[in-house]
Amino acid sequence: MKTPVILKTIEELKEWRRGINAPLGFVPTMGALHAGHLSLLKASMAQNPHTLLSIFVNPTQFGANEDFGKYPRTLQADIALAQGVDAIFAPESKEMYKSDDEITLNPPKLMGYVYEGAIRKGHFDGVLQVVLKLFNLTSPTRAYFGQKDAQQLLLVQKMVKDFFLPLEIVPCPIIRDDDGLALSSRNIYLSKEERQIALKIPQTLQKIARLINEGEREVGKLYEFGMRELEGMNVDYLAFCNHTLEPLEQIIPTQTLILLTCKVGNTRLLDNLWI
Ligand code: AMP
Repeated sequence: MKTPVILKTIEELKEWRRGINAPLGFVPTMGALHAGHLSLLKASMAQNPHTLLSIFVNPTQFGANEDFGKYPRTLQADIALAQGVDAIFAPESKEMYKSDDEITLNPPKLMGYVYEGAIRKGHFDGVLQVVLKLFNLTSPTRAYFGQKDAQQLLLVQKMVKDFFLPLEIVPCPIIRDDDGLALSSRNIYLSKEERQIALKIPQTLQKIARLINEGEREVGKLYEFGMRELEGMNVDYLAFCNHTLEPLEQIIPTQTLILLTCKVGNTRLLDNLWI
């Protein structure tokens, strides 16, 4: 098993990158690695002779009242978990942001300001900004993103398409804990009781999927059913949309995304189903 090279600066990253002459898989993360992140690394290692992991808690994608300060930072444990990857790029903020007045990116109007984009103002501006920087620095052949963050994945795919970026985005399925909860670095914020409550999220999605499998196509009925199941939960949104995030009235199999986001205690939990 390879032990990863740790790269802290852009100079070190560039130097390392110059030595790579075969396809490179890239997995950008904010660290606090769990089995969801490891599945992305595994996919990359299976498809590319080299894999680079980045760990960077990106300040520009957090709102002023969000958890940037307390987001878990566990670099030593992450390094131990990432055995087999070639290198880990783990820069400080000042490496990635040289100026406090930089050019920024606006997400597209139709996909960028709904759902997460409506609730977390400026979030996707920061995501696209840092992802473009990371792509430019690392020149990957393929980059791996989780379907867990469905809107982020769709926006990154759109940025690659709109800006003719020379890489392939590889979507990876959601990895769940044994109890069904989608893995997230933020799950550690949940108390034992909150975690029990949070299970309603995947359970409701599963029940909706069952109804769809049994032939229900009416979004109105599925929405009402879902909201009844979620009674008492603090639901940010339950939405049925296509892969460009336009709302659907009828389920179209293979083209439907069901998004469900709830606040449990102080923690926002995202989950979804790709039908
Ligand atoms: P994060 O560190 O939360 O920014 O996530 C880094 C990458 O891991 C993103 O592409 C996420 O979508 C992906 N990811 C996070 N949780 C999961 C999960 N449970 N299953 C699959 N991918 C995930």
